[in-house]
Amino acid sequence: MRTTVGIIGAGPAGLLLARLLHNAGIDSVVLESRDRAYVERRQRAGILEQGTVDVLRSAGAGERLDREGLRHDGIELRYDRRRHRVDFPGLTGGRSVTVYAQTEVVKDLVALQLAKGGPLLFEAEALAVEGAESDRPRVRFVHRGAAETEESVLECDYVVGCDGFWGVSRDAVPAAVSQVFERTYPYGWLGILADVPPSHDELVYARHDRGFSLLSMRSPTVSRLYLQVPAEEDAADWSDEAIWDELDRRLETAPGDDWALHRGPITAKSVTPMRSYVHEPMRHGNLFLAGDAAHIVPPTGAKGLNLAVGDVVTFARAFVHFRRTGDTSLLDTYSETCLHRVWQAERFSYAMTTMLHRAPDATPFDDRIQRARLDRIATSRAAETDLAECYTGFPFG
Ligand SMILES: Cc1cc2nc3c(=O)[nH]c(=O)nc-3n(C[C@H](O)[C@H](O)[C@H](O)COP(=O)(O)OP(=O)(O)OC[C@H]3O[C@@H](n4cnc5c(N)ncnc54)[C@H](O)[C@@H]3O)c2cc1C
Repeated sequence: MRTTVGIIGAGPAGLLLARLLHNAGIDSVVLESRDRAYVERRQRAGILEQGTVDVLRSAGAGERLDREGLRHDGIELRYDRRRHRVDFPGLTGGRSVTVYAQTEVVKDLVALQLAKGGPLLFEAEALAVEGAESDRPRVRFVHRGAAETEESVLECDYVVGCDGFWGVSRDAVPAAVSQVFERTYPYGWLGILADVPPSHDELVYARHDRGFSLLSMRSPTVSRLYLQVPAEEDAADWSDEAIWDELDRRLETAPGDDWALHRGPITAKSVTPMRSYVHEPMRHGNLFLAGDAAHIVPPTGAKGLNLAVGDVVTFARAFVHFRRTGDTSLLDTYSETCLHRVWQAERFSYAMTTMLHRAPDATPFDDRIQRARLDRIATSRAAETDLAECYTGFPFG
């Protein structure tokens, strides 16, 4: 097989990139190791920045998003039983975010790609990227979804590794030029999906001496909630009742406040580890890395999916510019351009995580500092504006 741009991975990054290239008349092939049902079911992110929504719309993937996405104009910070609302449009000159699950973004992009787009091969696992430094890089892959399983080669002009944190494309960057910056956290998130209307119309980020919790949602009838738990926790050790009881404790409000947590049947339960990770550079020869293949953020800032979108928008712009003019300058600065935005998101996600989670070895001093940081946001328009600007998103490129 031969193509102009070989894309490894059909997560949000790979699928959107295929769409953007197709719309610009550039051919690509997407290789995805999992089957379609698995990719469309995988529960992950749910908050789209304004810029992400705009890109999906202009790529032709905004129809259902516009119909079903929930516009959110703020979040609530809850601590010491107090409630503080951060008003995004008022602080940022009109910006907001949209609640629309990653599963739905993926479904929309898969449907578009299969209806009008280049090949998207499911159960096609990339084994290695070869010749990244040459002008003819190749992806060796095995297509289990084909009638006969056999190893094949996809020859490309360029390869974009959109294969997530556990993919193979990053391995093609030689160790001598790779730099990794990483932090792991001694806690994870126990996340649940529940068939019950959200207990609040905006997300609630709660700091509590028992640990962090987050009230989120997927739709007007489905709640998504999270509890900070030890990193090695097994979700099976938590009964449904224990989860609701713990959420009730951590989301407590002041006496007299009539807020209440609505309980309902829990339909999914899992633990997500927390990690900050950046691989530099994001380009080696004709191999480009995008999304989780190059960087991971803890989910507290709701940035992972939005960063992946930023990377592929940057690549698509650079590549279309190159094809139209022969000028490689935007491709040459791809890594630098993306990393600027990536590090801002890393900083913000780290700051939100450490402000709201209680480390197992937290001292009374640490607790006071967390409260002081939250008080600063609640009482300073400058601090609150910074949070609102970061949450609603950094500009692309
Ligand atoms: C459990 C979990 C929960 C998360 N929750 C949140 C959240 O609440 N908020 C938030 O903002 N972010 C969240 N994230 C992060 C967010 O979902 C990711 O940042 C986003 O999925 C990145 O998109 P991507 O396309 O770069 O990578 P992915 O979505 O990981 O897609 C990579 C794709 O590549 C495929 N692949 C892997 N290896 C190969 C191979 N060798 N050959 C072919 N295909 C391959 C994978 O099957 C996958 O489909 C979460 C992530 C995880 C793992």
